Amino acid sequence: MGLKENLIRRGYDFVEFDTKEDAASYLCNACAGKTVALGGSVTLSEMGLYEGLQKSSVCFWHWKNDSLADARTASVYVTSANALAETGEIVNIDGNGNRVSSSIFGHETVYFMVGENKITSDLPSAWDRARNIAAPKNAARLGKNTPCAADGVCHDCQSPQCICSVITVHRRKPSSCNAVVILVHESLGY
Ligand code: SF4
Repeated sequence: MGLKENLIRRGYDFVEFDTKEDAASYLCNACAGKTVALGGSVTLSEMGLYEGLQKSSVCFWHWKNDSLADARTASVYVTSANALAETGEIVNIDGNGNRVSSSIFGHETVYFMVGENKITSDLPSAWDRARNIAAPKNAARLGKNTPCAADGVCHDCQSPQCICSVITVHRRKPSSCNAVVILVHESLGY
């Protein structure tokens, strides 16, 4: 069973696009007239989603403005994933917790925007990718004083500036929201 089939049997809707431009166009059309909040994400930044969504939606993104409180009220939440297993599990790591909590509860629809570089073969390899590739790169990007920012490998640290407070595994779609996985056949984010 492939990724698409595994996500569908776990309760997700699934769409895929060859380019980030086509994926962005799909999402902007789907969100027209709605309130939308974005999670912190290099993927979403590389896609220019905030700028695109502002044309036809009310969009909140704390990377652009002080809108974390407003984001909680949005009907739609958009995030990426730190890893997506071919078996259908989605792994995310969060320091603050706003991103992972919003991916679970509180919004009518959650979109996971995922570049194909995030795909791994199974849950253990997805967990490993999130911890040893995505998190160290994000710690370095943010200039954190953590051991992984220096050598690119997770040391399971308890540093004051650790960005790995919460690690989530979406085993299946949470029951109170709609959830859509958008796969982009490009490399996006970490
Ligand atoms: S737990 Fe610490 S060392 Fe490991 S990735 Fe997170 S911040 Fe880096």
